[in-house]
Amino acid sequence: MNNSLQQSSANIDFKFDKKHIWHPYTSMHNAAKVTGVVSAEGCELTLSDGQVVIDGTSSWWACIHGYNRPEIIEAMQYQLTTLSHVMFGGITHAPAVNLCKRLVDMTSPNLTKVFLADSGSIAVEVAMKMAMQYWQGKNQFKKQRILTVKRGYHGDTFAAMSVCDPDNGMHTMFGDAVTEQLFAPAPTSSFGETLADNDTAALEAILQQHHHNIAALIIEPIMQAAGGMHFYSAEYLKAIRQLCDQYNVLLILDEIATGFGRIGKLFAYEYAEIEADILCLGKALTGGYISLAATICSDEVANGVSDSPAGVFMHGPTFMGNPLACSAADASLKILQTGQWQHQVDAIEKQMKQELAEAIEFEHVIDVRVLGSVGVIEMNSAINTGALQQAFIKLGVWIRPFGHVLYITPPYTISSEQLTTLTQALKTIAKNITLEQATADTFSNG
Ligand code: PLP
Repeated sequence: MNNSLQQSSANIDFKFDKKHIWHPYTSMHNAAKVTGVVSAEGCELTLSDGQVVIDGTSSWWACIHGYNRPEIIEAMQYQLTTLSHVMFGGITHAPAVNLCKRLVDMTSPNLTKVFLADSGSIAVEVAMKMAMQYWQGKNQFKKQRILTVKRGYHGDTFAAMSVCDPDNGMHTMFGDAVTEQLFAPAPTSSFGETLADNDTAALEAILQQHHHNIAALIIEPIMQAAGGMHFYSAEYLKAIRQLCDQYNVLLILDEIATGFGRIGKLFAYEYAEIEADILCLGKALTGGYISLAATICSDEVANGVSDSPAGVFMHGPTFMGNPLACSAADASLKILQTGQWQHQVDAIEKQMKQELAEAIEFEHVIDVRVLGSVGVIEMNSAINTGALQQAFIKLGVWIRPFGHVLYITPPYTISSEQLTTLTQALKTIAKNITLEQATADTFSNG
């Protein structure tokens, strides 16, 4: 990097930031403290004061291969100087085709048609529109509502908000602008357990009563992430697949957080040995290098959409299929296809299970759970994200708790020593958390 670029990335104008820039879920009256980051390498972030911290978040699930991964950088550098962007309407290019080939290859055999979207929330919007147009193509114009379960999170745009948890989400804030959807209780059968009696009963009752109006059921498979990192039974997922078939409702699986190996299978639906009708992917798709998401559907769904009165699928953003983003995603998936992620995630799971177990004895801890590379300590009261984030930095780690949970989702490439530093930090905070630190921020979504 030349000197002037280096200087400008190191000199962060915090005053300007505080006065003019929104950060996720922040107020302009009382701006939350932000931490300057100047560079990242492997599993470490270098902060603007020179401190180096271990990243326990993979930057919100995205940077699964760590930072500065040569294979991805090389692919992007080539793409940047060859064709960094071109419109996708009426044009195609190798990065998009290569990426979509990999996606079709990696996902279940029935998923064959890929829509490249800009972000996770948009991938969800696209999935919902696909489901609605599908039924229009079948002359079933009343099947336009979406069924989901409580405690879910699917994004911040309007349609995505409409299927987030109705109590902890943003429904009441935006009133009638958020479409009223149908909600069943959250699954209660835990991961690894059999299906509890009646766990799907309320959901089935809704299907029985409203299936003529329901286009699709959307759910995060196996793990409800922003709803509190709950891992639920694969049998529950299997059961709702059967119910969707029985009541003629499409199944949309939102694997934006779980996809690409995060919870121990390449895709979480593999735990239940089921197929989605529509699958949403995002976050780790590019290995965290640039924003990109994908919505993949079956031939059946694509045919229905194409038979709808519109005759086409009604979505096409400006930056759809951006070649630079596709090249990053293609390189990231190529790394995944070596299969090494499986050993890495298995090792992370084993180590986290061993090192976090003792936390269940701490006064304010009510649960400790680990699945794949997600490690969670659940507290008995809500947490002050801002205060604890600073406490974690003092311990040499970047961890951003929310709600009632302290959690880590490290890059798969983390070393055993680095992982111990993360679990140690989690335990230190969980053990010594004070009432003041435990006072929740007004709103924090991870
Ligand atoms: N779906 C799930 C399961 C998520 O966890 C998220 C983000 O946290 C989204 C959708 C929204 O993705 P994005 O933030 O890229 O819009």
